[in-house]
Amino acid sequence: MIERLQRLRTALAERDLPAILLTAPASRRYISGFTGSAGALLISAEAALLLTDGRYVVQAAAEAPAFSLCEIRPPARPLPKLVAELTAELGIGKLGFEAATMTVAEYRQLTTALGNEVELVATENIVEELRMVKDSGEIALLRKAVAITDAALAAVLPTLSPAMTEREAAWKIEVALHELGAEGPSFPIIVAAGRNSARPHHAPGDDPLGEGQPVIIDMGARYAGYHADLTRTIVLGQADDTFRAVYAATLAAQQAAIQALRPGLPWSEADVIARRVIGEAGYADGIAHSLGHGVGLVIHEAPWLRMTAPDAPPSPPLQAGMITSVEPGIYLPAWGGVRIEDLVLITADGCEVLSQSPR
Ligand code: ZN
Ligand code: ZN
Repeated sequence: MIERLQRLRTALAERDLPAILLTAPASRRYISGFTGSAGALLISAEAALLLTDGRYVVQAAAEAPAFSLCEIRPPARPLPKLVAELTAELGIGKLGFEAATMTVAEYRQLTTALGNEVELVATENIVEELRMVKDSGEIALLRKAVAITDAALAAVLPTLSPAMTEREAAWKIEVALHELGAEGPSFPIIVAAGRNSARPHHAPGDDPLGEGQPVIIDMGARYAGYHADLTRTIVLGQADDTFRAVYAATLAAQQAAIQALRPGLPWSEADVIARRVIGEAGYADGIAHSLGHGVGLVIHEAPWLRMTAPDAPPSPPLQAGMITSVEPGIYLPAWGGVRIEDLVLITADGCEVLSQSPR
């Protein structure tokens, strides 16, 4: 945690920011180790303060020993008032905040409390950029989340039947994730049968899985705060020719992208490669989303494997230690869809596919 705090301080210095208020849950946890659901970090070159309320004081002291605790006590001392007191005490005249997570209401309360004494500076992606490359401890936790995910799918697949509904199948997967040691699912599990599978983020309903049609299962375990993400598309009974052709094109796109992943490759490039393979197979109209996203303390985070606009600046390069999904899909509204998703770790000279579920 001390090393993460130092990297954050370097990032602040590069931006000429004397201090920052971190309110995003992932930032709070990544920088301090505190896992509670409420609170903020106030960090300057000298100070490392954790602001939280009475529900979390004992927990925060245990989880974030490098931080000094300051207690929020509404109504007399709500967070904005405490921030105003602390910035005055520390002589902070300019304070960054996380623009992507602060609500307009919270921003107004903060500006009112700070008055003209402190200049508030909207920042984006400072901690997100620090979180992009995983350290060895994080990689170990993600490997564990992936292993639970693989095991849960393997446990549930043999129990599926054509009469079972999407909702029942999703619940069986959720139970299996818990039984195998997950804190819970990484996101609401997707089970999409038949034509429903043409909608990439279909919510499971009362339709049966059926026979001879595609069933997309998108699931993941959350373990120690880290999110796994896995998609398989299956057929109960016999697959028809359409399924075989669409599946082969999706898998070829995924494998071509995985072959290309290595440090230095622009984020956008793997998406371009996968789209080309799908286009050459004749399914360009069936592409509905970009190729992949990073995972970590948040289920969707940088790096973003997606095509950029022709006039946009080139996307940043992949780096060793990044973990990203590779999830091409082909969606045909009158028929259904196929998506295959695996998590890969970018290594020094290529990548390692973490998920072990058969394709
Ligand atoms: Zn997924
Ligand atoms: Zn995903």
